[in-house]
Amino acid sequence: MARVAPSRDTETAILVNCGRRCALCTGLNNDHAVKKGQIAHIDRDSSNSSYENLAFLCIPHHDDYDSVSRQSKSFKPDELRHYKKEVCRQYGPVYPSILGFLTRHQAAILELNNETGQLAVEVDKNTFGAYKDLHTDLVNLIHQTLNADVHRLLHDWYIEIDVTLRTINDEYYIESGWRRKFDNGTYSQDILSAKKVIVTHALSRMGTAYITLRNFLAY
Ligand SMILES: [Zn+2]
Repeated sequence: MARVAPSRDTETAILVNCGRRCALCTGLNNDHAVKKGQIAHIDRDSSNSSYENLAFLCIPHHDDYDSVSRQSKSFKPDELRHYKKEVCRQYGPVYPSILGFLTRHQAAILELNNETGQLAVEVDKNTFGAYKDLHTDLVNLIHQTLNADVHRLLHDWYIEIDVTLRTINDEYYIESGWRRKFDNGTYSQDILSAKKVIVTHALSRMGTAYITLRNFLAY
C-alpha cells in the first residue's frame, strides 16, 4: 500500500502527547530523555496513519521496530501500543486533565449513567446544578484537548449531555421545592412523552460514549 502521511494535527498530537519521549526507551530502559526521533507505524503499514497506529520512536528503536527478523523475537504491535499509552499517560497534557475532570465530576457522572426517561419528569435542583457544571467543564476540557481521537470521544459524550440538558431546560419546567419538574398543570402529556423519548436515547448513547472514553484511557 502507498505511504500516507499523517495529518498535521495527528502528527502534532503524537509529538505533544509523548513530549518527544521514545515509547520503547521509556518503557524498556527507563530512559526518559527527549529524543531525536521519527513517527513509526505500529502495524508496520505505512498507509495506515491514524493516531491509534502511530508512535514516536528514537531512530535506533524505529530501525529495530521495522526490521522483522527471523532470528530474534521482533517487537509486537501490542507491546508498542502498551508503551505508547504509558508514555502518553506520563507526558501527555491531555491525560491528567481528563482524569482530574472525571474525578471532580464522578458523582454527577455516576448519577447520569443511572438516569432514565424519568429525568424528563423531574430532577433534584442540586443534581441538575451538578449536571450543568459537568456540561460547562466538559466544554472547557474539549477546547484544551489536542489529541484528535480523545477530542472526538469527549465530543461524542458532550453531544448527548447537551441534548439531555437542553431537553429539560426550557419553559416547560417549573421549580417546585427541592426539584425542577415538568409543568403538567400547563402542558400536555404528549410533550412530556416526546421529551422522555429524547432523554432516554441520549442517556443511552451517553453511557456508550463514556465507556468508550474510559476504555481508551485505561488501555
Ligand atoms: Zn528509543
